[in-house]
Amino acid sequence: MQTLLLNAAEKGAVEKAAEIIRSGGLVGMPTETVYGLAANALDGKAVAKIFAAKGRPQDNPLIVHISDFSQIGRLVRSVPEKAKKLAEAYWPGPMTMVLEKSELIPDEVSTGLPTVGIRFPSHPVARALITAAGVPIAAPSANTSGLPSTTTAQHVMRDMNGKIDAVLDGGPCSVGVESTIVTLASDPPRLLRPGGITLEQLRAVLGRVDVDRAVMNPLPKGARPLSPGMKYKHYSPKANVVILDGNERAYADYVNAHRGPGVAALCYTGEEKLIRVPAVTYGGETDYGAQARDLFEALRHLDEIGAETVYARCPEPKGVGLAVYNRLMRAAGFEVLRIG
Ligand code: AMP
Ligand code: MG
Repeated sequence: MQTLLLNAAEKGAVEKAAEIIRSGGLVGMPTETVYGLAANALDGKAVAKIFAAKGRPQDNPLIVHISDFSQIGRLVRSVPEKAKKLAEAYWPGPMTMVLEKSELIPDEVSTGLPTVGIRFPSHPVARALITAAGVPIAAPSANTSGLPSTTTAQHVMRDMNGKIDAVLDGGPCSVGVESTIVTLASDPPRLLRPGGITLEQLRAVLGRVDVDRAVMNPLPKGARPLSPGMKYKHYSPKANVVILDGNERAYADYVNAHRGPGVAALCYTGEEKLIRVPAVTYGGETDYGAQARDLFEALRHLDEIGAETVYARCPEPKGVGLAVYNRLMRAAGFEVLRIG
């Protein structure tokens, strides 16, 4: 299959992509979080193609994207008061709500769960595409399963060229990590995956919000997580990633003492001058937004420079940094060394 690369700024591009969605095809779609691999959410056959293109495990459900709050009504059993409040505060934006699903949601989307994740993205191209398609859009991240998510159209082409109908290029993603997932199907609500909307922001609207154990910790072997995407290893480059937990001095000393062929560093912006191995940066030490935006690009870049062992600076799990911590821990398979 020839994969079309469409420039979203060009006339007719969004309409062409919408036509592909309507006829059961797959499109790489820009959103503010990461690129999504989009299909008609109401067409089980089209959704099944997403799993094939990504090599995605069959038990990992997809998020359904809408372009107006009113579209949620027929996708879920009911819209609780808490969902309305959250939507009012943070939609459109990088937050997914899990609610009990309606019969319209095919099993291919919810993979056997009684619930569905719904998101109303803020990216103008995503919104225009959903509206033009005239159907809700199911979309997981547009990467090969297990690899770092895609935050540019070029990343999507690298993973999906020849496997999907088109990629709609809307430029680089501004948030850079996947949406926050909060389930309202349990009481109190529970954070399943941290993202661009922080835990503090959720609590400001909902009061008590519990944090699922899988957000900070590896799952015990064989356990089924509430959010199947939180499985052990994920978002991972080919290189072996080891997180070093310590201050800047201790980090630089450790990396420099372990230099050798294939060794590389993933450090905060500005620290590269202290490091005597090839270094890739992912935002300043307290700039959690920049860390989130740059993380996946940095992980992909480490593979491009041929890194085999990557020593990563440990992110601080604060604000949006919690999402960065969560993704990098999985990229490292929770391999953390405490130093200094
Ligand atoms: P991705 O868009 O690739 O980040 O994948 C979507 C993620 O959303 C999955 O990995 C799931 O963990 C999560 N998800 C989607 N639907 C549900 C649901 N109904 N309940 C819990 N988690 C969900
Ligand atoms: Mg994903």
